[in-house]
Amino acid sequence: MKMKAAVMTEVGKPLQIQTVDLASPKANEVLVKIEATGVCHSDLNALYDDTTPTPAILGHEGAGVVVEVGTNVKNVQAGDKVALSWMPYCGTCEFCVTGAVHLCESAFGPMFNGTLLDGTSRLSKDGNPIYHYSLLSTFAEYAVVPEMSCIKLPEKMPFAQASLIGCGVATGYGAAVNAAKVTPGSTVAVFGIGGVGINAIQGARIAGASKIIACDVKDANLEIAKKFGATHTVNVGKENGEEALKSLTNGYGVHYAIDCSGHTSATETAWKGTRKGGTIVVVGAFNPAMTLNLPAGGFHRAGKILKGSFYGDIQPYRDFLRISELYLDGKFMLDELILKRMTLDRINEALESFHDCNCINVGRSVIEFTSTPIQCEETSFERIP
Ligand SMILES: [Zn+2]
Ligand SMILES: [Zn+2]
Repeated sequence: MKMKAAVMTEVGKPLQIQTVDLASPKANEVLVKIEATGVCHSDLNALYDDTTPTPAILGHEGAGVVVEVGTNVKNVQAGDKVALSWMPYCGTCEFCVTGAVHLCESAFGPMFNGTLLDGTSRLSKDGNPIYHYSLLSTFAEYAVVPEMSCIKLPEKMPFAQASLIGCGVATGYGAAVNAAKVTPGSTVAVFGIGGVGINAIQGARIAGASKIIACDVKDANLEIAKKFGATHTVNVGKENGEEALKSLTNGYGVHYAIDCSGHTSATETAWKGTRKGGTIVVVGAFNPAMTLNLPAGGFHRAGKILKGSFYGDIQPYRDFLRISELYLDGKFMLDELILKRMTLDRINEALESFHDCNCINVGRSVIEFTSTPIQCEETSFERIP
């Protein structure tokens, strides 16, 4: 079939809106009509990454409706409303059978090679292949995706909000709920208030934390954090983070720290500001050249747990649905994460907004494909002057 898509033709060049070909789904694949797709900082990173195979169709946060299923597909059928996961898992490896599906490695090869799971592409133009991105390629009117990427959602779930669940929302929520396992009445510090950190705050709020302390170097981000459930804020660029966290917790430090910043220095502060027996979860990707420096003295007596968390340790079939239900019950904020709604032809504007230092990266631009007129732009947060 022919469809309109935003194509990455070269590294760092604006995406081009082109008419491309999409082949039918093969076994264990699903054709989805994309209704909404979030524009993520990872898409921008891929656009500027010279290891991204080109031409490619980016986009890895999507929601839509199942149009057609390939052979052997059992979990979804035509007409189902789905949100997409960029980490399909195999279900049979050591990690999957022990419940850690977020550690399954089966998708990584195809993900880095720009193909679907069978090593080939369904996308082409004039007979020349176009690469997939993160097995989804949602910057297009339709996508052929692995069955395991399709998570059926409640009929009431709106598409724009649903499209956001599969990336920063699930990662942040899962970091608090699944990885840290925040308990009611506990104290939580979240470092790095961006697209993931803001949802770690939401996860901690839903898990019943009594104090949620947002830590960032930008006051504007800290103000936004309060709207999502932070009870206290610490500007760690101006204040001593360890002392601030201890003074807010009777001198003990927090029970849980979740570092979404990607900076080793923040993890070091999080470690120091966490009480004995507490847990520090690292979500952000460190620069591999960096080294984490933790105090060796008294390490064994502190009894702390330091753990990494990938994709929020989520089980998509469980957590996408839970987040949707929480949203529909008014307990999880997704409307507020949508900064702008726009059509596909304005996608470069959405990507460029990440370069705009006035843009707060907590929220998202969402591309919508509906044929009904698009509402006026919505902006939920004030932009930093
Ligand atoms: Zn993303
Ligand atoms: Zn597996």
